[in-house]
Amino acid sequence: CGIVGYTGFQDAYKIVINGLRRLEYRGYDSAGIVLDSNNEPFYSAKTKGKVDDLVAISKDLEGKAHVGMGHTRWATHGAPSDRNSHPHLSNNGKIALVHNGIIENYDTIKTMLVEKGFVFHSETDTEVLVNLIQYFMDTDTALDFQTAVRYALNEVYGAYAITVMHDDFPGLLVVARLGSPLAIGLGENEYFIASDASPFVEFTKEAVYLEEGHMATISLENGVEIRNITNNEKITPQIQELKL
Ligand code: GLU
Repeated sequence: CGIVGYTGFQDAYKIVINGLRRLEYRGYDSAGIVLDSNNEPFYSAKTKGKVDDLVAISKDLEGKAHVGMGHTRWATHGAPSDRNSHPHLSNNGKIALVHNGIIENYDTIKTMLVEKGFVFHSETDTEVLVNLIQYFMDTDTALDFQTAVRYALNEVYGAYAITVMHDDFPGLLVVARLGSPLAIGLGENEYFIASDASPFVEFTKEAVYLEEGHMATISLENGVEIRNITNNEKITPQIQELKL
């Protein structure tokens, strides 16, 4: 299971697909990708099977965007299937999320969201989290995206590495970590996200390993801003020099 994300000037499709290949050794049953191109709804593709199977159904996305993320899934909630593969989109189609790990209390949250009128298209614990983020943004339209992600994370128990994108904020990636690893690669006018540094070592030797209970907002405009998920305290990024 693995996560790859990118924002920069290169073709996001290539970076994400090649990155997912580098993470294949971790094992997985499904793969997916979502890209954000200015003024267009998300482009996404996902399938049960290997990265090669994903490429077979998504080749036309090459060259379409400079921002995107991908996922390889190791199913824990819901059988391996196209529908249960990540990314998962929120009901309004605006928020996309990839997740490694388990949301333990997804059932309680799902019941609450169904009562509010949310519809679910998969059996995953993950789809609950992306809709909970939408719920917070629907409830308070003044709420910014990263705060909504933080509110949602404060409602869930479990283990996760996540990356989230919002169609109205192209170029912004929100990531968080609790119990599953996540590294951020710092390039020149580009940023990489991955479960380990192997997808981006060829592009940069500078990385920040996200620590337990931390989240980061990543954009070309503002760089990497790290906060504590629980109390929103700002954290100074510790940049490491990769020796690979
Ligand atoms: N629990 C999530 C699912 O079953 C994520 C699994 C993973 O770590 O890939 O979809």
